[in-house]
Amino acid sequence: MRHLLSARDLSLESAVSLLDTGESMAQVQMRDVKKIPALRGRTVVNLFFEDSTRTRVSFEAAAKRLSADVINFAAKGSSVSKGESLKDTVQTLEAIGADVIVMRHPSSGAAKTLADSGWTQAHVVNAGDGTHEHPTQALLDAFTMRQFKAQRDGVSPLGTDLTGLRVVIVGDVLHSRVVRSNVWLLHTLGAHVTLVAPPTLVPVGVGAWPCEVDYDLDRALAAQPDVVMMLRIQAERMNSAYFPSAGEYSSRWGLDEDRFRRLIVGRGDEVIIMHPGPMNRGLEISALAADSPQSRILNQVANGVSMRMAALYHVATDVTEAPRKELA
Ligand code: ASP
Repeated sequence: MRHLLSARDLSLESAVSLLDTGESMAQVQMRDVKKIPALRGRTVVNLFFEDSTRTRVSFEAAAKRLSADVINFAAKGSSVSKGESLKDTVQTLEAIGADVIVMRHPSSGAAKTLADSGWTQAHVVNAGDGTHEHPTQALLDAFTMRQFKAQRDGVSPLGTDLTGLRVVIVGDVLHSRVVRSNVWLLHTLGAHVTLVAPPTLVPVGVGAWPCEVDYDLDRALAAQPDVVMMLRIQAERMNSAYFPSAGEYSSRWGLDEDRFRRLIVGRGDEVIIMHPGPMNRGLEISALAADSPQSRILNQVANGVSMRMAALYHVATDVTEAPRKELA
């Protein structure tokens, strides 16, 4: 795999292979010395034109655990704020010898533009492009769901997909790159996805996505899904009011305390709660749900490091299907 630009482009074989490599990387993280020499001598540049906590830190940890040299480049404080173009910025990184560029950018399509540009020979990993895609988030989410399913069914996660898993994704679908990556990857892996949102936060064209859409959260939760993923209300991407008030949103589309209690009644071990972060506690999710035994939100963060190690390894060493033996 030369680049990782979108989850939609991943075949079932590549997705399962990435998830399996993620399992090997998770083993590495359980060792006292959490480092392998897989990318020794390679340079990974984290090029972030948008704010980030989890994604940036976890790509940095992932690259370091693979023994790569890491350069963190935030647009704030760089010559980008003096008006330097993406082309000049990237050509500078090329001259420095970047082998992999991990890029987050506010424009949808920016990662593909970079990969197709000829400005750099580096492998490109999309760490979020506008409202388009966030493929490593979808991979870490799928990894988290696969572990839950394997544990529940008493089987090994290796080599398996998500066939039969029922996933409800709730909230600001309109502005979410996380949901766009998740819907396609979960579909490829065989899961059944239902999106739930107020009509104002559902994008035009959702009918072409491989999922169902509901506007009634209580109805969707009454169907007893295996996974409930809450999305952040992305206030920074909203230029007008999409719902009357925070209270109204929370009471109809939030995982508030009452709704959470109803969800887990009699099936506490059979349902998990996810959120990509950062959370707006009290808006889309209550503290009761976020901090509950059903919550996998911190597991998602830990799994993010394993899956980003897998993604960096697959692009930098051009893995197409089975992970290389020497990795273990
Ligand atoms: N951290 C995720 C993203 O960058 C989700 C979010 O910001 O709501 O897309």
